[in-house]
Formats: sequence, structure tokens, C-alpha cells
Amino acid sequence: MGWFEPKAEKPKIPPAKALWAICPKCKSHMDKAVWKKNNCICPKCNYHGRLSARERIAQVADEGTFAEVFREVSYSDHLKFHDATGDYKSKVEATIAKTGENESVVMGTCEIGGHKAMLGVMDFAFMGGSLGSGTGERIARACEQAIAERRPLVIFSASGGARMHEGILSLMQMAKTSAAIGRLKDAGLPYISVLTDPTTGGVSASYAMLGDINVTEPKALIGFAGRRVIENTIHQKLPDDFQSAEYLEKHGFIDKIVERAEMKAFIAKMLG
Ligand SMILES: [Zn+2]
Repeated sequence: MGWFEPKAEKPKIPPAKALWAICPKCKSHMDKAVWKKNNCICPKCNYHGRLSARERIAQVADEGTFAEVFREVSYSDHLKFHDATGDYKSKVEATIAKTGENESVVMGTCEIGGHKAMLGVMDFAFMGGSLGSGTGERIARACEQAIAERRPLVIFSASGGARMHEGILSLMQMAKTSAAIGRLKDAGLPYISVLTDPTTGGVSASYAMLGDINVTEPKALIGFAGRRVIENTIHQKLPDDFQSAEYLEKHGFIDKIVERAEMKAFIAKMLG
């Protein structure tokens, strides 16, 4: 074949994504069906992958007991925000159509192992689980209802942090949710916070770290600012396991790492 002859067309191979799941931690490839069957847990490294809010609720709440509340509370676009890639309203509407959720936290009453509870579960697929004004409002209202009905609060967090598109109104939710949880504690009710992969930014800096008991799943990423931002600020190399669930447990930021299969039984025991 001469140098100037046109290259033969590459054979078309169907995208590997459709068949294989790739563990985000150890990069192992496995059949997607194996990944799903294993409850999105990597059989090689025990990384606990992301679940949707509905999958998580099905695993934690007693069957048939979950009753969703505050569905009428959703995002608000006070700033009419848009950036180079489009406007906030179109992006969030596309997310609603894709996920079927209309905020980044799904809230409801339920029973867990026979104990009544107020359960909130964040969904990372909804705008990166970002903390918007609707998210904060749902959590604040959940605290109020929990106090009125004497229900302990359980929140599963998964979030990249504050929702930039809502500006200061998003940041305000950090104070608002923290105050609401303060009132819950004043009423003598427990709050169990489960930090799942990833819980970062404004969520880790507010309600996710305020649990009477803070637990996490193996290998979850938990932190505030990202590794690169910190390294560039302090001009030091951070440890490899920095911001991992295991590192945080070792340094006392987290009370316990709980395997997914044990999570429901653990929460039920704590509620009991
Ligand atoms: Zn893995």
C-alpha cells in the first residue's frame, strides 16, 4: 500500500458502553448484567456504585410503606440563568424528562425494619445531585413534618454540591437545612446521615455531615473542594486515599463504613 493511497475505512464496532460496565475506581470491565446483578458493587474492588433514588428507596424502605411527600416543590429559576452552553430552565427540564424526578432529593415517609422514619434520598443523575432551592425546601419541610409526627430523619446524600445556576439562593440552602436539622435535634429526634459516592461541596458542608450518626459506603468519595483545587492551593501532594470513605473513617470524620447489603439492617438497628 502506497503512502498516498486513501486509508481503508475502519470497521464499525458497536459502542462497548452498551455491553460493558467499567468500575470507576479500579477500571475493571465486566458484563453490564453482572454489574446490575451485583447491586452496582464492583466484584473486584468493592466500590459501591451509584444508585438512583428509587432503587435506593426500594432497598431501604419496608415494602409498600414509602409515601412520597413534597413532590410539588421543585426548582426555581429566579435568576433566569444561562451560560455559554444554554439556559438553566432547558437543562433542568431535560433532566426532569430523563430521570422522572423533579428535584435532586426524593422525600417521603416510610418504615425501615418496622420503625417509622422520614426518608430522603438524593439522586446524582438529577443535575449532579446539586443542592437547589427546591432540594433545601424539601429537606426543611421534612424536618418540620418529622417533628410534627415524631419521626427520625434518614437522608442518603449524593451530590456535587451547590447548584451554581441558582447562585446565592442555592448557597442559602446550606444555612436553611442546617437550621432545620438543628430544630429536629432540639425536638430530641435522631438524624442518620448516609454519605454515598460522591458527597462533596455544599452538601458535605451542611446537612450531610450533621447526622447524629454519619455513615458511608465503601470507597465513597467524600470531601469539600476537589483534590486538584486543594493541591494547587497548598502546593502539597495529598495522600492517594485522601477524601475516601476509608480515610475519613480512619480520621474520625465518619462513624462507620457500612456495606450496601447491611445498610437497611444497620439503620433499622439504630432507629430501634
Ligand atoms: Zn472496582
